[in-house]
Amino acid sequence: MLEVRNLSAAYQDGVEVLHNIDLAVPEGAMVTLIGANGAGKTTTLRAIMKLMRSRGSIVFRGEEISRRETPEIAQLGISMVPEGRGVFPGLSVYDNLRVAATPWLSRGQSIDGDLDRVFSLFPILAERRKQLGWALSGGQQQMLAIGRAIMARPKLMLLDEPSLGLAPNLVEEMFEKLKSVNEQGVSLLLVEQNAFMALEYSTLAYVIERGTVSSQKASSALLEDNSIKAAYLGG
Ligand code: ATP
Repeated sequence: MLEVRNLSAAYQDGVEVLHNIDLAVPEGAMVTLIGANGAGKTTTLRAIMKLMRSRGSIVFRGEEISRRETPEIAQLGISMVPEGRGVFPGLSVYDNLRVAATPWLSRGQSIDGDLDRVFSLFPILAERRKQLGWALSGGQQQMLAIGRAIMARPKLMLLDEPSLGLAPNLVEEMFEKLKSVNEQGVSLLLVEQNAFMALEYSTLAYVIERGTVSSQKASSALLEDNSIKAAYLGG
């Protein structure tokens, strides 16, 4: 579904922070990127979305997208849930979802089915549809961010730290929701600080160190790997 080859990227200051990243997300898979702070995980997602300049090849469903602009990439079926959630605080839950469906609304298409999908996954958002974004709890804002990504009808969703800032009892619930999204046919590539939970739920994992892929394994194998346990799973 997604094949990234030799991806390198630099920020405005010109310092290269990704060096020849190779990774793949198989159709229907849930893939996780783990690594220390500053290793380049967020940058990898941003580069795939063309939110920054990069070199290398990115093939999505057989099509080279590395020269495409972000809106085109979104139209092709990749949507990103950014760290910090990117919810509009001054818009209601309903309007946050509607705005995310602008491409379909502007073509005169109904978004009722999309709204149903989001509200059946996150019933609390249906209850709070008239509330403003800022009035939601952190967990509800994260659900709304995922809901907004679903409204874009993605085939692949990129998620940056979906469990960040959630109360510990909500983290597992969030992963269960992501599993449901995945079971509905959306492939997932996620970056997570909560490496243990991410490896429990995903099928395949990449370890990013200093801007390169240092390891690539089945998630279950990484959970058993002593050096991974020591570095990322608290021993
Ligand atoms: P974290 O979990 O801390 O977000 P990460 O693995 O996602 O870590 P990135 O945010 O991708 O790491 O950062 C990779 C490198 O790029 C780091 O050295 C970071 O300092 C640098 N970096 C990140 N954002 C910028 C920016 N806007 N301008 C310049 N350098 C940046």
